[in-house]
Amino acid sequence: MSQQVLAIDIGGTKIAAALVDADGAILKETVRPTLPSTNPDVVFASAEAAIVQLLSEVAEPQTPLRVGVGSAGPINGPAGTISPVNIPAWRNFEVSARVADVIADRLGVRPRVALAGDGHCFALGEHWLGAGHDVDSMVGMVLSTGVGGGAVLNNTLFAGLTGNSVHIGHISVNAWGPRCVCGCHGCVEMYARGPALVAAAKARGWSGGNDAQALTAAARAGDEIALTVIDHGMRALAAGIATTATELDVRTFVLGGGVSKAGEVIFGPLRRHLRDFAVLDYVVDVEVRPAILENAGLLGAAALAFSQP
Ligand SMILES: [Zn+2]
Repeated sequence: MSQQVLAIDIGGTKIAAALVDADGAILKETVRPTLPSTNPDVVFASAEAAIVQLLSEVAEPQTPLRVGVGSAGPINGPAGTISPVNIPAWRNFEVSARVADVIADRLGVRPRVALAGDGHCFALGEHWLGAGHDVDSMVGMVLSTGVGGGAVLNNTLFAGLTGNSVHIGHISVNAWGPRCVCGCHGCVEMYARGPALVAAAKARGWSGGNDAQALTAAARAGDEIALTVIDHGMRALAAGIATTATELDVRTFVLGGGVSKAGEVIFGPLRRHLRDFAVLDYVVDVEVRPAILENAGLLGAAALAFSQP
């Protein structure tokens, strides 16, 4: 039997769990809704049910089972705790221990559980099986309702002390800008995230919809306001990418997430502005590639599990 790991991907709307083999094939997967409860145990019940179902479908699970958990952040990797912004019931929730308890109960052997943020798992997944599979070092970025990220350097996840490194959405690109929800000023996310693009368009009189999908569709159809606000937003993201490239000395960036799926109306201005910021010799050839995988976060959680001894 080939090596298998358990991957768990925790988001604000759903919790996915899968058994994944060493080639990245998903052998079994189950997805449950993230319940909007204020009771931490009620929210965890979805994850527990998914794990129990998966384990019940495997004839002879390998022990000790290796587990990778990817979660919306912030997280504390070494402590095994998470406080996802979009899951208010969980603050310093001991997700690693709780997952280990469920598995130990079923298999009689305590598993090895590794925890990483969703942006880090996205980067791991795209590096393993996606757009960054041919490079040793890359930064993965998720552009949706926020702007997340993570870096794989020399084929290893660069987690940082607490597992929150390369939080590209909260790099300041405007020191005199308005205050961000995080407390800083002029963060990338304030200009580039989907809701910020839509708000900027509405402030200029655009009335073509309420989400980034409608806005990017309008841009593709040539709407001047949509094109302008996307251009501004991608200039902010380009500045954040160039800063990150300059700091980490990494050439390859992989961009995924709902807003990025609009394609050239996002990548065109992003790459054009990038040439304005990535100017030092060692970053002039920095490139931004579209993500390939639909489930990079889940596969990244599997890669995280495999990275354990
Ligand atoms: Zn911020």
